[in-house]
Amino acid sequence: MGYNVAIDGPAGAGKSTIAKLVAKEKGYIYVDTGAMYRALAIHFLKKGIDADDREAVAEASRDAEVTIGYEDGVQQMYLNGENVTHMLRTEDVGNMASKSSAIPAVREKLLELQRSLAAEKDVIMDGRDIGTNILPNADVKIYLTASVETRAKRRYDELKAKGEDCDLEAIAHDIAERDERDMTREIAPLKQAEDAILVDSSDMTIPEVVAEICSHCS
Ligand code: C5P
Repeated sequence: MGYNVAIDGPAGAGKSTIAKLVAKEKGYIYVDTGAMYRALAIHFLKKGIDADDREAVAEASRDAEVTIGYEDGVQQMYLNGENVTHMLRTEDVGNMASKSSAIPAVREKLLELQRSLAAEKDVIMDGRDIGTNILPNADVKIYLTASVETRAKRRYDELKAKGEDCDLEAIAHDIAERDERDMTREIAPLKQAEDAILVDSSDMTIPEVVAEICSHCS
């Protein structure tokens, strides 16, 4: 069994940024489970499936094979053998992933992949249900959050820096909607595990958050 750090929290809390830095410092492999849901979302989008058509999503998930690889230490996602890593980070894919991840067939599809990675290696795995559902016996569990306003502002600054046109209020609205979907879904909702350490990064710098999390890890 590998050494397992679970890091859960809402969209935009900075999980992936922080987890990558902790992985580097501690020598763990970083596993981004959101990317797995996004890879499946690409499959549904390619098939023209409506995200609200739960039966069609469940049916389509049967002929999708999602696998993971690493290139120079960077996680790569493969959908039916095609590397789709460069396609994961669009709004369309994020929205489809947010909706389709509430469907049991979709979650079941990715559960074994996530557990088997953690069984083999020392990992820091980020997601929504890692500490509560995927790795209930993780060595360290972190619940990383920040206020909706802080998360929206960070996303806004990120998009602006890329030269994209965006609206702060619309981003905040989208984040609040994603929180609502993640926290209220029937299967594996986002919540803090009882034994998770709460880290609210609203007023913390990235190095402070990394140091705080590293202090709990061996
Ligand atoms: O973290 P990221 O935004 O890449 O995740 C995409 C979507 O996948 C999220 O909106 C969330 O609903 C879903 N997800 C999930 N469980 C995870 C990781 C992500 O439901 N472990």
